[in-house]
Amino acid sequence: MLLGLSKIIDRPGASVPFSTAVDLSDLRYGISYPVTEPVRAEGQVRNTAGVLVMTGSIETTIHGTCDRCATAFDREIQFPIDVVLVTELCNEENEDEWVFPLEGDSADLEDIVRTVFVLNLDSKLLCSDDCKGLCCGCGRNLNFESCSCQKELDPRFAALKQLLEK
Ligand SMILES: [Zn+2]
Ligand SMILES: [Zn+2]
Repeated sequence: MLLGLSKIIDRPGASVPFSTAVDLSDLRYGISYPVTEPVRAEGQVRNTAGVLVMTGSIETTIHGTCDRCATAFDREIQFPIDVVLVTELCNEENEDEWVFPLEGDSADLEDIVRTVFVLNLDSKLLCSDDCKGLCCGCGRNLNFESCSCQKELDPRFAALKQLLEK
């Protein structure tokens, strides 16, 4: 979807609101496709002293499998949009990923939302940021139960300790 900006391109202080939903269900994450719901984005583009600044937020609910504890989860996520739109990318070498070129007088909303979304995603898909994961000793999900293995020394450290003691 293109957002027409011809009305504000030459008018400092003017702004144009936007609201859209983008389909990112083809976005692969490891072995899964967790973005099954539409990704909603809204905000505005404002001409700030001649610079077109897009601000807003992106939100959706992802349905994934946790990389750490292997549990299926639904998680609402929200990312801020804060990018600059330029008529042309003049300095290719210092190309900033948060700067997007215009298509004529328009912003390509889908491209921007997709890029901002991908850049904000963590490299791991987790049910929560502080997921405790599975115990490597007994396989219990440590988010829900504790186990006694934790108190024992990791076998690798135990071996190291033995070496050091010799
Ligand atoms: Zn987890
Ligand atoms: Zn355990």
